[in-house]
Amino acid sequence: MRFECKFFAVVRRISSLNSFTTRTNTCGELGLDSVGEKVCLKGWLHTFRGKFLLIRDAYGMTQITIPGERKELLEKVNGINFESVISITGLVTKRPEGQENKKMQTGCIEVILEDLEVLGPAKKDLKFLPKDTSKASEHLQLQYRYLSLRLPEMQRTLRLRSEVIMKMREYLIKKHGFVDIETPTLFRRTPGGAQEFIVPTRQPGNFYSLVQSPQQFKQLLMIGGLDRYFQIARCYRDEGSRPDRQPEFTQVDIEMSFPTLDGIISLIEGLIADSWPEGFPELKIPFPRLDFNTAMSEYGTDKPDTRFKNKIQEVTGILKDVSFPENSTLSPSSCVSAVVFRDSSEYYTAAVKNKMKTLAEGCRVKKNSEVKIDKKGKWITNMKLNEKLKDELKSILKLEENDVVFIAAGNRTDVLKYLGKVRLEFADHLETKGKNIRSSGYNFHWVLDFPLFSVNDEGKLESNHHPFTAPHPHDVDLLRENPENVRGLHYDLVMNGNEIAGGSIRIHDPMLQEEVLKLIGEDSSQLHHLIDALASGCPPHGGIAIGLDRYISLLLHTKSIRDVIAFPKTTEGRDLMSDAPSAVSEKDLDLYHIKVINKQSKC
Ligand code: ASP
Repeated sequence: MRFECKFFAVVRRISSLNSFTTRTNTCGELGLDSVGEKVCLKGWLHTFRGKFLLIRDAYGMTQITIPGERKELLEKVNGINFESVISITGLVTKRPEGQENKKMQTGCIEVILEDLEVLGPAKKDLKFLPKDTSKASEHLQLQYRYLSLRLPEMQRTLRLRSEVIMKMREYLIKKHGFVDIETPTLFRRTPGGAQEFIVPTRQPGNFYSLVQSPQQFKQLLMIGGLDRYFQIARCYRDEGSRPDRQPEFTQVDIEMSFPTLDGIISLIEGLIADSWPEGFPELKIPFPRLDFNTAMSEYGTDKPDTRFKNKIQEVTGILKDVSFPENSTLSPSSCVSAVVFRDSSEYYTAAVKNKMKTLAEGCRVKKNSEVKIDKKGKWITNMKLNEKLKDELKSILKLEENDVVFIAAGNRTDVLKYLGKVRLEFADHLETKGKNIRSSGYNFHWVLDFPLFSVNDEGKLESNHHPFTAPHPHDVDLLRENPENVRGLHYDLVMNGNEIAGGSIRIHDPMLQEEVLKLIGEDSSQLHHLIDALASGCPPHGGIAIGLDRYISLLLHTKSIRDVIAFPKTTEGRDLMSDAPSAVSEKDLDLYHIKVINKQSKC
């Protein structure tokens, strides 16, 4: 019997691979049907013990056995360091009865060694061996990335990523007539977005900006008559040290002329479904849709994790007069809301309480408390709740013994934001204790009807998506008097509580574009080229971009997006392998008219 081959899709392609390499076989493809064949395998010496060695390549591993009489071969292998690249020839044989390895793809055969050659010796003191990477810290794995890339998980990830991209290209180009167009990465600053990296030039005082996305180019392509554009685009954002962000990342960037919002949504649903990896749980499209206000009021975030319920519930009507531990009364505009977790009172500990306090401070919520109902139905809380209030809360929140209720009061936005975080934090906490909170698998949904603007901490209007997003046609008249109430034609796709794609229908009227830039305090002369283009016969257009790294990371449930990028950077944006960014010579500094004031700032 041939053991089931997990890498079948990969192995199937090997025959074509052999027509342009010098290898004749790969280490993952041999099975009982190869018995009696003479093979040549090329790969890394993975391990060697007794008379057995394991040779590994990108497709799997094969056991090689040195015949007892070939002492010279035994001696030769003894002198080879692990991870050296070797070439072996030998005869495929069935392993003796009882010696099969069911965990190994090729575990029913072995190759009896006839000859061996070292093609690329490895030094003795490699910092870690792929066979025991678990002992290597992430720092070390990033520093010697070419070694960690040899790991089966990394191989599987990068191959799956490539397969998804290939299917996406096929879907967009072959099924829907999109054109793959490369756009520049050296550009000028785009107003109203993320902090951009700047690139000095030989012209004193003049800098490029690295594109944070191809946003302007894709709009210009529509104006240029390329009505269906896409690109697997490299983007750059200088977001400082934000966990699980990369200064350079990849988007599947898409734009169309004459789209409808529903059309873009179903294009993307088809794209995800068509490129869905083989063997993954069944995916159902269309994805559900949520409007922004519902997302905020029920989940306290615009990217809700809907794999579990525990929605936020408003209880202002019941608790408006209750004093919180701080004993201060609520202002009339305050809102009081709650999140309930069933059957979990034993997990509500002093550490959890402290954590929630810190979260509340971070969200500017001054009044927060909890109610714990013990297994006998006794209420433990520092809120002053009389029996009537308890009964009312019990009935509206459907409380039972052993429940925990998190309550907060104050400014509605802050309260919702806080309870949204509480919901995730306590769910994580319960999961670390072995409780199943989130449903397994993949959960997608759209969030729609975002406000066009939000107000930042300095009280200034900011674009919620970007300044090119069109206002809802019904709300355009509100732009001047009441911009905060204007909805944008903006849509986000959320997967397991993470935003994986965002896009919008664009402004294609130059005057409206200028007006929106003015509202967010941006100088429209910086965008003269785009405004001019909008006035040159611009089709209505819209698009979206999928964050490919995050999407693949969520698909594979990796701990970090670094695990799905071949050469990632640290949280601080450093490349540990080459130790970049690094100092440059005085000559180069002069060429680019740069004076370094503080050379100590290396992080
Ligand atoms: N360029 C946008 C972004 O990077 C996506 C879009 O609106 O298409 O977020």
